[in-house]
Amino acid sequence: MGPPTVGAAGRLSEFATGQWGAHLIGGWTADGWIELPRRLGGRIAPLVGAHADEVTVCDSTSVNLFKLLHAACDLRPDRTVIVAAADDFPTDRYLVDAVAAQRGRAVRRIDPLQVAVADLADAAALVCSHVHFRTGRLHDMRALTATAHAAGALALWDVAHSVGAVPLEFDGCGVDLAVGCTYKFLNGGPGAPSFAYVARYLHGDLASPIAGWLGHAEPFAFAPAYRPAPGVARLVAGTPDVASLIALDTALDAFDGVDLAAARAKAIALGDLFMTLVAEHLGDAFSLVSPSDAAVRGNQVSLGHPDAYPIVQALIARGVVGDFREPDVLRFGFAPLYVRYVDVFDAVAALAEVMGTDEWREPGFGIRRPVT
Ligand SMILES: *Cc1c(COP(=O)(O)O)cnc(C)c1O
Repeated sequence: MGPPTVGAAGRLSEFATGQWGAHLIGGWTADGWIELPRRLGGRIAPLVGAHADEVTVCDSTSVNLFKLLHAACDLRPDRTVIVAAADDFPTDRYLVDAVAAQRGRAVRRIDPLQVAVADLADAAALVCSHVHFRTGRLHDMRALTATAHAAGALALWDVAHSVGAVPLEFDGCGVDLAVGCTYKFLNGGPGAPSFAYVARYLHGDLASPIAGWLGHAEPFAFAPAYRPAPGVARLVAGTPDVASLIALDTALDAFDGVDLAAARAKAIALGDLFMTLVAEHLGDAFSLVSPSDAAVRGNQVSLGHPDAYPIVQALIARGVVGDFREPDVLRFGFAPLYVRYVDVFDAVAALAEVMGTDEWREPGFGIRRPVT
């Protein structure tokens, strides 16, 4: 989770008093709340290589994945299978299974590094995370999207761990559908809404399985029947989460004028430095779970250790906030906008002390918390 940006507290406080408190329901128009899903979609678009009208911000990543998986089934009515990356993030796996069952499709799990056109011959969609949440493995969006298209399938990408971290080119790669998370490298705050991308050429045919009133062409006509809004606007099902959208709006200010290629180059240098220092100071105490080759690694480095959980807790107590992922992974994110080289030196020094002094064995660090 990214930290709050400098402006976040002030903007949220001003929202509570100057907008919500002052205008009540009038804020939807006076303060532009109703425009936030569309406007923030337009702000995220340049970060993912999309047109402004191809992105909207609403709901959670899980809910958007649900909507776009259903939409993919509608767009490929004759296809009998959903093909999905094996060992993907749990919500992606669960939702692929759930939507496949709801739509009478089979699920085929594949290794994204091995998948061929033949594996997708009967597929409605190929569903894959761009950067693997545990290993940090970065997949080739352009090549896999082309493979899906060669088989007549749609490519549905989850870019939760790449947006704001790795430059993306949805339009350039021909991506059909995508979802992403805004509380990781985009710093939108806990529970900040997700975004959904739909390529322009699908806008006319896209059907949302959640036909809510705020995705209606004229919500305030209070018409008896549903008629979808144009394009991605129909994905907004119900009332947007305004406070979270305002925090995200503030967070996106930090990306204004940022050269994402330069930021990515710094993140790679931070990750490479981290791996070099870990090898130097900790020898072979940890295994390297992430690819050492930065070309196929996102902005994270994951280390393996049988006691990963208490080690992560001991590091957090020292202010080095990584996370633990089952079964034995310590995960470190290198967000180039605010992580400095000195932080990498300090983090490895802290890790060396935690290991050298057996500090991680203190009983409190072994207590499992609800969120790891
Ligand atoms: C973080 C993450 C999500 C988050 O889903 P939510 O619905 O926002 O909880 C989804 N997919 C991947 C790959 C993630 O890393």
